[in-house]
Amino acid sequence: MQNCIFCKIATGEIPKEFEYEDKDVMVFKDINPIKPKHHLIVPKKHIKELVVAKPDEIKKLFTIVQKMIKKSKLEENGYRITLNGGGAQFVDHLHIHLTGPMGKKAGW
Ligand code: AMP
Ligand code: ZN
Repeated sequence: MQNCIFCKIATGEIPKEFEYEDKDVMVFKDINPIKPKHHLIVPKKHIKELVVAKPDEIKKLFTIVQKMIKKSKLEENGYRITLNGGGAQFVDHLHIHLTGPMGKKAGW
């Protein structure tokens, strides 16, 4: 979609180093991290937000969230998943924030 920053990242128009990539999903670091690890898990296809995503698309995204939790060692160090929608998001292209470490071991 035109003028969508995450679509431009998906097509390569805006260069971005991916932490994970497959045919459907890309993962990259948030440009403005709120924790030492702040990944964005993003479908390559333009999906406006969670409520319009198909069950298979949601399943695929969360499978990659699980993978990134393990890859970043956040399973043992604490993590939070955030998904903004309904106008609470700045970027109108579905994405999941995965942030950490946090919690008991990290001292909140
Ligand atoms: P949200 O409020 O859920 O829409 O969050 C959008 C997130 O995208 C914010 O945390 C931004 O820091 C992040 N962001 C925006 N542009 C870029 C970019 N070019 N590369 C990486 N992260 C970005
Ligand atoms: Zn888009």
